[in-house]
Amino acid sequence: MMSFNHDPFPCTSCGLCCQRISVVTELSAYDRGDGTCMHLVDNRCSIYEERPEICRIDQMFEKVYSKHFSRDEFYLENLKVCKNLQISAGLPEEKQVKLTSLPK
Ligand code: SF4
Ligand code: SF4
Repeated sequence: MMSFNHDPFPCTSCGLCCQRISVVTELSAYDRGDGTCMHLVDNRCSIYEERPEICRIDQMFEKVYSKHFSRDEFYLENLKVCKNLQISAGLPEEKQVKLTSLPK
C-alpha cells in the first residue's frame, strides 16, 4: 500500500460524478442504464475499498497525470469539473467544492 504525505482531494461527497458515468469508458460495465453507477447506494460508493482505479483520484494522478501536472493543478482541474456538476445540479453553494480549498 502506497502512502501519501499530502491531504486528500477535498471531495464533498455529493455523488454527482457517480451519476454521470456514461461518459467514462472504463466504467461502462457499471452503468445501471441511466448513467448512474450500480454501486452508488444511498449516494455512497458501496464498493469504496474495492472501487476501480479510474475512481481513485490519487492513484490516477500517480499513474498517469503526474507526468503532465503538479498534484495541485490536477486537483484544481478535477475540482472545476465537480463545481460545474454541482452548479448544474443546483447544489447549494455551501455544499459545493471550494476552488480555494486545495491542500497547502
Ligand atoms: S463530483 Fe466531485 S465532490 Fe462530488 S462526489 Fe464526485 S469527486 Fe466528490
Ligand atoms: S465504483 Fe464507486 S466511486 Fe466508482 S463510480 Fe461507482 S459508486 Fe462511484
